Amino acid sequence: MTGQLHGLYVRDLRVSFDGFTAVDGVSLDVAPGDIRFLIGPNGAGKTTLVDAVTGLVRATGSVRFGDRELLGRPVHRISRMGVGRTFQTSTVFEELTVLQNLDIAAGARRGWATLLRRRHGVPDEVAEALDVIGLTSRADHLAGTLAHGQKQWLEIGMLLVQDTRLLLLDEPVAGMSHEERDATGHLLEKVSQDRTVVVIEHDMDFLRRFARTVTVLHAGRVLSEGTVAQVQADPRVQEVYLGH
Ligand code: ADP
Repeated sequence: MTGQLHGLYVRDLRVSFDGFTAVDGVSLDVAPGDIRFLIGPNGAGKTTLVDAVTGLVRATGSVRFGDRELLGRPVHRISRMGVGRTFQTSTVFEELTVLQNLDIAAGARRGWATLLRRRHGVPDEVAEALDVIGLTSRADHLAGTLAHGQKQWLEIGMLLVQDTRLLLLDEPVAGMSHEERDATGHLLEKVSQDRTVVVIEHDMDFLRRFARTVTVLHAGRVLSEGTVAQVQADPRVQEVYLGH
């Protein structure tokens, strides 16, 4: 899975719902290959920001992935431009196997004819994704029988086979065991070798270990940004999180 490594460039992004401004002029740059964590209290605008980047809500401003503008394009176009996300709740087809889930995702990208021509073997990108997400030995298991963590990895695998170059992950380690969180962090490190990753996550231990950079949102705005150490030392962040 080779492809171009691009950054995400957000400028003056605004999203309003019936007069309420959920994202209020956010600008941020995520460098190519970064693992950027988005944190902030509930209601800070993290999910709405990701919704705007992926075309799920209307927004003003500019969102570029590499040199291509995403804003104003429909969801499926943005997806074809290599931008994909996961949700907090699993979207895998539980009654299909791991392999079938990946095949469907790959088919959505490549077109069914390609898959039909290759139906006697597992397509390269599917085999590679199975390996990266550590589920090769489970390829023929029903997705519904997977452990919680494995389902999240399958979701990530479904993005990989669609040749997603910017992955936006919404609380990927929520509800995971310690071992699953570790494995997920290492998976993100592997994935970011030739992709850019943005993660909404509340788990501070996970953030300290795997974030390369952090953006703190508060009330729809960027409150602080930098390395984990820089953000933790920022008095504005301490005030929002600790109330002093
Ligand atoms: P976070 O992900 O940081 O918890 P959200 O992006 O979900 O925050 O929400 C930001 C704010 O926007 C919240 O006050 C939320 O209630 C509001 N909001 C989000 N989606 C909608 C919507 N579809 N309609 C109205 N308000 C919304």
